[in-house]
Amino acid sequence: MASNRNLLVLPGDGIGPEVMNEVRKIIAWMGKKRAVGFDIKEDLVGGAALDKHGVPLSDDAMKTALEADAVLFGSVGGPKWDTADFSKKPERGLLRLRKEMDLFANLRPAKVFDALVDASSLKPEIVKGLDIMIIRELTSGVYFGEPRGRHINAKGEVEAFDTQRYTAPEIRRVCAVAFELARKRKNKVLSAEKANVMYTGVLWREEATKLHKEKYSDVKLEHMYADALAMQLLRAPKEFDVIVTDNLFGDILSDEASMLTGSLGLLPSASLGAPDATGRRKALYEPIHGSAPDIAGKGLANPIAQTLSYAMMLRYSFDLGKDADMVELAVENVLKAGYRTGDLLVGNTDGTKKVGTQEMGDAIVKELDRLV
Ligand code: NAD
Repeated sequence: MASNRNLLVLPGDGIGPEVMNEVRKIIAWMGKKRAVGFDIKEDLVGGAALDKHGVPLSDDAMKTALEADAVLFGSVGGPKWDTADFSKKPERGLLRLRKEMDLFANLRPAKVFDALVDASSLKPEIVKGLDIMIIRELTSGVYFGEPRGRHINAKGEVEAFDTQRYTAPEIRRVCAVAFELARKRKNKVLSAEKANVMYTGVLWREEATKLHKEKYSDVKLEHMYADALAMQLLRAPKEFDVIVTDNLFGDILSDEASMLTGSLGLLPSASLGAPDATGRRKALYEPIHGSAPDIAGKGLANPIAQTLSYAMMLRYSFDLGKDADMVELAVENVLKAGYRTGDLLVGNTDGTKKVGTQEMGDAIVKELDRLV
């Protein structure tokens, strides 16, 4: 069935293909029961691409990604490729996608499911009902700023240096994503930087404030230093709705926030580019976990993060919010019913049922069936 929805699926390495198989079941279900079809292409990325093509992402796959409406990505890497040349490491495939698709806004929700409130390392009352979204700038800042490198300095010492650099438009475009998203949530944005000690922090705060005044004054905007936010996320995370911050701080704070929810196996993400003339953004959706070589091939991986990445894709790339809600509700209900992959068996496990990757995927599809 021609669908006008072009999707590129890149399962990758390790548990990537295993968890992607479970999402395929949901895609098939959606096509059959909700008439939500996709024109799907599939390609290799990471170590799998390196083995076949000698590069972690072929030019063909890159071209397909640029033409697709969305890319659904699994995970890359593993010990087999640890000794690969730096420029050919599996992760370079993902970095190439992010760079050439110009995916500058990385969205990472941290949501605590009621059924898993015990899995968090924080007290249940602190995390119960938590639902925040961290937006990390992804294509600029200290990971890309020039000059960078290492040399022997005038004193004869080895010296290494990186440059934190942001332009006003780079700050404005990621803050705009945060404001737009907040309007669909609780209408609150917290912008985090280090304006007390960094020039880029001062510019970040100025631009966020200016943009807010110009276009988004209906949204509540607050500012906080990134180190203070690191503390607040542990003390009272529910005070926040949308958090927007730079590449470096976002890297750290989004990892911290993800741990509030208990397991890597649950967390999806979206990376978005600029809207084109039709309003469509290039987009890539992926779980935040890696290829988990320790459990790969054993049928133990939790497919929920990949499933929720697919739900984010429905919502943000295809405006299928109701279908996304349905997938998320099915996941929540399956957890409520006690289904647990190994990574979720922490804290109180009374009334739970240990399942593998496929059983978890099947349980989600069965619950979708019940919901319609
Ligand atoms: P990882 O996320 O792969 O695994 C960390 C731990 O979490 C492991 O014990 C793993 O078994 C567990 N885990 C992760 N996902 C799980 C899931 N869905 N279900 C159950 N348990 C899960 O991180 P790592 O061990 O640091 O890295 C392994 C490889 O993945 C490395 O090669 C790394 O470079 C790569 N990596 C890739 C990505 C990506 O593709 N975006 C991200 C992070 C790491």
